[in-house]
Amino acid sequence: MIKIERLTKTFGDTTVLHNIDLTIATGETVTIIGPSGSGKSTLLNCLNLLVTPDEGSVTIGEAFYQAPKLSKKTRLTIRRQSAMVFQNYNLFANLTVEANVTEALVTVYRWSKATATQRALELLNDVGLRDKAKLYPHQLSGGQKQRIAIARALAIKPNVILFDEPTSALDPELVTEVLHVIQSVVKQKITAIIVTHELAFARDVSDRVVLMADGQIVEHNTTAAFFDHPQHERTKQFLAAFS
Ligand code: ADP
Ligand code: MG
Repeated sequence: MIKIERLTKTFGDTTVLHNIDLTIATGETVTIIGPSGSGKSTLLNCLNLLVTPDEGSVTIGEAFYQAPKLSKKTRLTIRRQSAMVFQNYNLFANLTVEANVTEALVTVYRWSKATATQRALELLNDVGLRDKAKLYPHQLSGGQKQRIAIARALAIKPNVILFDEPTSALDPELVTEVLHVIQSVVKQKITAIIVTHELAFARDVSDRVVLMADGQIVEHNTTAAFFDHPQHERTKQFLAAFS
């Protein structure tokens, strides 16, 4: 479902991603962990071309991109393969909860208003927020906002869902409700990449775990092997800092 080959990204004279290779099968859940500034967000952003890589290639779902040349059509097809859930929700403040979920369905995908609304209400029901449909984002808690953002991400039935530190902005008592929703999403076998510092959660839901540092993949293994028998000193140090 996802194949990243020799991906490199430089900002100014700082190389933020060095020659990244990563392959993810359909239905897999892969967690990326690593220190701040290691390139985790940049890697996710390269998968939907919010950031354009300098070198390398990305295959995602039905789309293929070979850097550095990028046509409008390729950007669009790549972008339609995935949906992103951000740390800060990125909800539309001026739209109701329901309209946040239907917006792309109606404007980008040309669904009828009625079909989009029906789909939105189903998704809101799935994340336990059917009764909030007519409220605005500012009337919700952070945990509720993030659950709406997840419903919105799922609305377009993406091949891949990308979570970039989905619980990092939340008060601690709101983290569990969001992790619970993410867990129910990945159980549906949608292909997912999760960037998180919630290591216990990562251990629970991931098929594989990747440690990034300084723009490189330091360690990549199946979940149990990663946590129980880390191979690299850098991984051992990183895990020790959390225990
Ligand atoms: P992480 O998500 O692991 O914290 P990021 O991918 O956000 O790391 O950032 C990796 C590095 O790239 C950091 O040094 C950051 O300052 C730099 N960086 C990220 N985005 C930009 C940008 N748009 N312009 C310049 N530097 C950037
Ligand atoms: Mg980040």
